[in-house]
This record gives sequence, C-alpha cells and structure tokens, in this order.
Amino acid sequence: MDYTRRRFITTTSLLGSSAVISNLEGVAATEDAVRLAPPDKQPAELEVPERPEKTLGWAIVGLGQLALEEVMPAFGEAKLAKPVALVSGHPEKAAKVADAYGIPHDSIYNYENFDSIADNPDIDVVYIILPNSMHAEFTIRALKAGKHVLCEKPMAVSVEEGEKMKAVADETGKKLAIAYRLHYEPLNLQVMAWCNEQKFGKIKSFSASNCQNVKAPNIRLSAKLGGGPLGDVGVYCINAARYVIGEEPVEVGAFSHQPLDDPRFKEVPESFIFHMKYPSGVIASCDCSFGTAESRRFRVHCEKGFIDLDPAFSYAGLKLTKLTQDDDDGTKLRSDVMIEQANHFAREMDGFSEAILSGGEIKTPAEMGIADMKIIEALQEAAKTGKVVRLS
Ligand code: NDP
Repeated sequence: MDYTRRRFITTTSLLGSSAVISNLEGVAATEDAVRLAPPDKQPAELEVPERPEKTLGWAIVGLGQLALEEVMPAFGEAKLAKPVALVSGHPEKAAKVADAYGIPHDSIYNYENFDSIADNPDIDVVYIILPNSMHAEFTIRALKAGKHVLCEKPMAVSVEEGEKMKAVADETGKKLAIAYRLHYEPLNLQVMAWCNEQKFGKIKSFSASNCQNVKAPNIRLSAKLGGGPLGDVGVYCINAARYVIGEEPVEVGAFSHQPLDDPRFKEVPESFIFHMKYPSGVIASCDCSFGTAESRRFRVHCEKGFIDLDPAFSYAGLKLTKLTQDDDDGTKLRSDVMIEQANHFAREMDGFSEAILSGGEIKTPAEMGIADMKIIEALQEAAKTGKVVRLS
C-alpha cells in the first residue's frame, strides 16, 4: 500500500498534475480528475480516416520474401488497395497468409489454375512478384484474364518479352506498370524535382552503386530464373540515371566479373561496372554487385553543387544531402535535407490504383520497363564483347 501510494505521488508530480486517479486503491477522487478518454471531444490533430469511394482489389502472385515481408504489410498503410486474392505454389503457406490478412480460401490460386482469376470480380489488379523469368508469362495471363498488372522489376528477361507484355496490355486495354517504387518515394521525388529545374545548375555527371551480399540459395543466383546483379540491383542505377538526367543513353560500356571459384556465381556474374553516355554529354558511372556489403547510393554532380542520396534505394532510412558552392568566393554550404519518409509499397499500390480509378497517367509504364531492358541488353553485350555499344 505504501509503495503504491509513493509511486502514485511520484508519478503525479512527474506529470506536473494535481490530478488524482480515482480507481487507485485507497485513493479518493478529486473534482479536477483527469479523464483519460473524453467521450465528447477528440484531439484536434487526430486524423479520422474516411472510407474511400472505391478501393481496388489486388491479387498477389508469388509469396516470397518481398511479398510477405514488404508488400502484404504495406496494405495496412494503403488507402486505395486491399489484398483480395493470393497465387502460390505452396497451398499451406498461402492458406496461412490468407488467414492472416482475411482473404477467403476460395480466392487462393496456384500457377496452374491462375487463369480462373478471370471469374473473380473482386480482383482488379494483379501484382507479379515472381522470379524474373516468370514475369512475362504471368503478366500476359493476368492481362488476358481482364486484370490490370503491376509487375516487379526488372520487367522481364529480354526486350522481346517486354514488348510482348506491352502489346498484350494494348490489345486488352488493361494498364501495365512496372514496380519502380522510388517514383513514389519522397526523397527521390525531391531529387527529380531539383534536377528537372536545374536547381544546382546543369548536371555534369552521375554516379550510383547498388550492391549487396546474396546468400545461396536465391533466385538471384539462377540464370534460368533470370537472376544476375544487372537486372536485380543494377536496374535501380539505370532507372535513377534516367529520372535524374532526363535523357536516354546513346552509348554504353561495361565490365563484369564472375568468380568461378565462388559456388554462388556459377551461373551469373557477381558484379558489373558500367558507364552510360547521354546526348547532352552527361556521363553516368555505375556499379552493382551480389558480393559486397550493402551499399545503395547515388550522387549527382552539377555546375554549382552536388546532391547525395545515401542510401538511395533501400526500403527505409534514406538520407538526402546537398552541397552548394558560391560562384564568387567558393564558400561551400552542406546541409542534410529532412523530408518525411513513407512506405514505398503502400504509395506505389495507391498510386497505381489511383491511375486506374481516375484513368490518369501511370508513373512507371511498360515503356519505361522496356527502355531499361534495352539498356540492360546493351550493357550485357558491352561486357561480353568489351566494346562500346551504341543505342538508337
Ligand atoms: P523470392 O525468391 O523470395 O520469392 C519468389 C516467389 O516466387 C517464391 O516464394 C515462390 O512463391 C514464387 N515462385 C514460383 N516459381 C518459383 C521458382 N521456380 N523458384 C522460386 N520461386 C518461385 O524472391 P523475392 O521476393 O526476393 O523477389 C521476387 C521478385 O520481386 C523479383 O522479380 C525481384 O526482382 C523483385 N523484387 C523487387 C524489390 C523491390 O524493391 N521492388 C525487392 C526485392 C525483390 P510461392 O512459394 O508462393 O509459389
């Protein structure tokens, strides 16, 4: 009793309040008691969500690491997208995931009966999160089933596949987007805006790295499944170079390394270093690897300063720094730029849902995926031949 009372007194004095909480044993209520949940008032800053006019139903295809660790939880923050169906080769796993997210078991499909999603009116959008070698087949089947598709990056394993996917989207009149989540991410968007308005003068060069250590077994280490660092992580550097520079490259060169004494790299290279030259003369210098500690950054060198985003491509914790240099006295001013971070996947799913609902423009259309596939193919050729490859 004494202990309870002493602790109570300490607590109230810490709170700086004269209030007495009436339901503590042996302590009487006073008139100015704090009421913890006033039924008549809500805090002014409390955002009470409104029910959106329409949310779209999403089917998730492939319940692997990205789907289970990032995408499914992101639905909790999405406003226009809700999970309504799952597609998996593992029925027990799919049933557990369905129960966790309130998805009915009759909306679980496998890769064989996948086409019957056409008969499920709850599914508006199909999100392909499969190994890269399966993107084209399942995107095309989903489009033909009358659904819109968000397909993970890289779009496919060849330009030819990417073009077929786009042709089916055009034929069916359904929307096809590639999951370049950074086009919805606030810090990358800030860099895009600065570069677009040439805030630090003309862009002169761009450098980017996207490296990680991949442990076997992993789809990324399989040639048959479309693995390799260029399509998996290098594509972020290629795509960022476009949204920073605002042009398509005209020439590319590349080196790759495949250490055959490391069993992980029997089928795919460990790393690529590559260069891309743009019509304005801007040069991009990039590297990607499956054999180093994690490093995901870019720097934009401009006439009057530079922009660093490090990390730039991670799911969270992105850090933006800018440095400007005075023309007259050379004084340098470096500052960190604070911008509220957001869940990339929730924003991406909402963004695509919004484009479907409003008939608006898709931020990351099939054309963007094909443009990246063209660069990837040119870089593969450059690494193989040791020659600079020209792009039309
Ligand atoms: P995982 O290997 O973790 O998952 C892939 C899933 O695909 C498997 O769990 C399995 O699901 C299904 N699958 C079907 N057939 C096969 C097969 N033959 N071999 C292996 N898996 C198969 O990969 P990730 O989740 O890491 O990557 C999936 C895709 O997402 C890739 O295209 C990758 O590039 C992309 N990605 C994108 C990221 C981003 O930030 N945008 C980040 C990470 C990945 P089931 O058991 O349910 O059938």
